[in-house]
Amino acid sequence: MKKRKKFAKIAKIVLPILFTLIIVLVLFIGYKFITKDPNKTFLEKLEMDTYAHITNYAIYGIHMNIEGEFTLPDDVQNPKLLLANDSTQIEIPWELEEENHTYTFKTSNFINEGINLENIPVADLYLVIEAESTENDKNLKYYSVENHSKYENMEYYTLTKNHKNNQITMEWNTFEECPTWRFQVKETTLPEGVYDITIDPGHDGTDPGKTICLLSNDLYDAGDISGCYQGGTKVEEREINLNVSLALKQKLENLGYKVAMTRTDNQSRVEIYEPMGSATMANDTKSKFSLAIHSNSSGVPGGDSTLSGLEVYVAGDINFDLAELFVNEITSNANTTPSTKIKYQVANGIYQRFFTQEEIDNDDYPETKSLDLIYYYYIREVGGVSTHAINNGYSEYHINEHYNSNNTAEPYLFELGYVDNLKEVNNLRDNADGYAEGLAKAIQKYLEQE
Ligand SMILES: [Zn+2]
Repeated sequence: MKKRKKFAKIAKIVLPILFTLIIVLVLFIGYKFITKDPNKTFLEKLEMDTYAHITNYAIYGIHMNIEGEFTLPDDVQNPKLLLANDSTQIEIPWELEEENHTYTFKTSNFINEGINLENIPVADLYLVIEAESTENDKNLKYYSVENHSKYENMEYYTLTKNHKNNQITMEWNTFEECPTWRFQVKETTLPEGVYDITIDPGHDGTDPGKTICLLSNDLYDAGDISGCYQGGTKVEEREINLNVSLALKQKLENLGYKVAMTRTDNQSRVEIYEPMGSATMANDTKSKFSLAIHSNSSGVPGGDSTLSGLEVYVAGDINFDLAELFVNEITSNANTTPSTKIKYQVANGIYQRFFTQEEIDNDDYPETKSLDLIYYYYIREVGGVSTHAINNGYSEYHINEHYNSNNTAEPYLFELGYVDNLKEVNNLRDNADGYAEGLAKAIQKYLEQE
């Protein structure tokens, strides 16, 4: 009896303590299970003492390009570049060079190629290098990357598709002292102020662009005169540019895109480098494409240009996939032809005019000081570091806040046709819808095939 009583007494004290301990243990394990970083299983696979150096990276339009270097131990081979986690692995093509297990890589030699950010699935991914062991088991090893560039974290919004967008946050981090580069992709809608595409209808309320007087069977350069004599009709470039741009905006919006415009009337003034200016708005609004719409003139005394047709001005170091679509779609939808101009032509209808490294080194870029030739550097200044933008405030113009940005829109500049060509001017005036249709279709086709 006595013994039993004693046991009961002990049990009365010990059991509740034991019970509490078990509850605490269960809660603790449960908590650990729920809060376990789902990335941890993957990150734990990383080789902790070897990682690649990322030396440069830039987003241009919808593509991201990465450059780097790394050395692998002797007993691994066949490295691959991946965006990966425990359940998803996306292999990224790269240009890889090797010498004695030391590698240098670049995702593409073209600034508008590389990782297509539109195609990364909603997930939490890490940029890693996978390599296989040379042993019989061919075990896979994973190596992380470390930031050796001058850039930091960045953010990208995908183009609107079915009213939806993804936000990609590219963040430098560490996992147990190992550097990591995390690509977190989340579904979202575009915040206010963020757009898909920017259109810049050339010229503005203070600058009509090329102005001609159109007669029944002749035309002449209106020069600075405010009206036309001989009863002609005044045709201003800014009006043609705006009509095409407004029609294009409508068509792109019908495709679901959010479109920003540097002007929507013929009276407003558009600055160049001020915030929301012609060379800054695309990047102020995080747009993926920037389209400057102009009409050309060859300035033949008395008018009637011998040149005619479409010119698409593009940046250097790009592939011409989208530029060619612009040429094909605009010429077929607007009933026109690629330009007959030879100067600066690099392919049928495609033109390049950017400064050479020599011109930049010699500080020899007089064109930036001339407003007449502003469009030549529109391409370069919108593209930031990818297109070697140089306006850091040296000129009479306001500083381009994005000149050294590695996260920019992909710009194109169009000279739709020659306003001072008698055979072409009526098409430019009356066929805004055809030109806009060609522009919109080219973008639509390009994004479908990418
Ligand atoms: Zn113009």
